[in-house]
Amino acid sequence: MGDFNLTVILDAIRRAPGGLSRVELAQIVGLSPQTISNISRRLLDQNLIVEAGKEGSGPGKPRTMLRLNASGMYAVGVHLDPAVTTFVVLDLVGSVVKHTSTMTPSGADPGAVIDTIAAQITRLVADSGVDPARVAGIGVASPGPIDLEAGTVVDPPLLPGWDRVPLRDALARATGLFVLVDKDVTSAAVAETWAGGPSGAGSFIFMYMGTGIGCGIVLNDEVVRGTSGNAGEIGHIVVDPGGAPCDCGLTGCVKSTCIPQVLVAQAVEAGVLDGSHQDTNGPAVQDSFNKLCALAYDGDDRATRILDRSAVLVARAVSVIINALDVDRVVFGGPFWSGLSGRYLKLVPGIVRENSATRQIHPIDVVGTGVGEDVGAIGAASLVLEHTLAPRSQRLLLEG
Ligand SMILES: [Zn+2]
Repeated sequence: MGDFNLTVILDAIRRAPGGLSRVELAQIVGLSPQTISNISRRLLDQNLIVEAGKEGSGPGKPRTMLRLNASGMYAVGVHLDPAVTTFVVLDLVGSVVKHTSTMTPSGADPGAVIDTIAAQITRLVADSGVDPARVAGIGVASPGPIDLEAGTVVDPPLLPGWDRVPLRDALARATGLFVLVDKDVTSAAVAETWAGGPSGAGSFIFMYMGTGIGCGIVLNDEVVRGTSGNAGEIGHIVVDPGGAPCDCGLTGCVKSTCIPQVLVAQAVEAGVLDGSHQDTNGPAVQDSFNKLCALAYDGDDRATRILDRSAVLVARAVSVIINALDVDRVVFGGPFWSGLSGRYLKLVPGIVRENSATRQIHPIDVVGTGVGEDVGAIGAASLVLEHTLAPRSQRLLLEG
């Protein structure tokens, strides 16, 4: 790949669901018809785009539309979550071709876990019926912090024994494929740009509601990773001064007041959930949390109050972030999002609008992800597509 103009043209085609004619492409990207013609020939030769029928009426000859070729390239995505590991094979247009998930193998031997993951990937690709030669690589979404340059996971709180495990290189050795490792929240933002439709364009933050709360950042269609790949660690924004103490030493951080384990504990204390939900560690939290959200959905006042309180606090954190970055949109998603969505989408937009420094200049949309529950794994696969195909200013500098 490597050619900036080529990635710009591919990106324009990818963002137009109905495809684009060469004339429209020239208008959108501002390149000469000759350049458009040469590059679209190269993209056709590489099977990344197809000519998809002719459109147009009136005088002049109908225009041939160029569209992304869904089967032109594939990527494997792995979401390494402390509880469940999810695998997908994604095609070039961001559709899931094959999906599977397993309990994350526990134990402090990362080497054995990586071998298991590699075997599962090989099986998944075989089952998907996809030509392995068209698989561009594997993306892994992991809880942070990570060392992006080294491709390692650095002491993730919920994966004991995983400190500085050379995940990227070990998985590349075990599978023979190109591997990228990124944070789960960043992967989710990349998923939104690649498979999320209109909500993945422009400038937005992706609020990732997982075991922790973090955000992915996209500014002017480019993913922002920061110096070491760890941008978006927002858990310690104080949203409730004097509130619950946090492991960071402050009180009332969005982490210490709004993560699922905390909401479940509040529900047990308030008698909304019974004592069988005391276990606020590991996979049990998901069940207890689902129960809490189901109660709120059915109109239980006390359950609703707990979720509403968290929506107000999360909205305060969101307000700080959107004002720091000046984005168009807040996209919510992640493994714990669907249960929260009803109350959050009622309450967060108004608070964010009120607190927005730019409310007289542009609106700020608050939406749920267009990608769905598997946003981590789809994002992991999208990392590979993004790395290979997206126009990035870094690419321009490297070529300059
Ligand atoms: Zn804190």
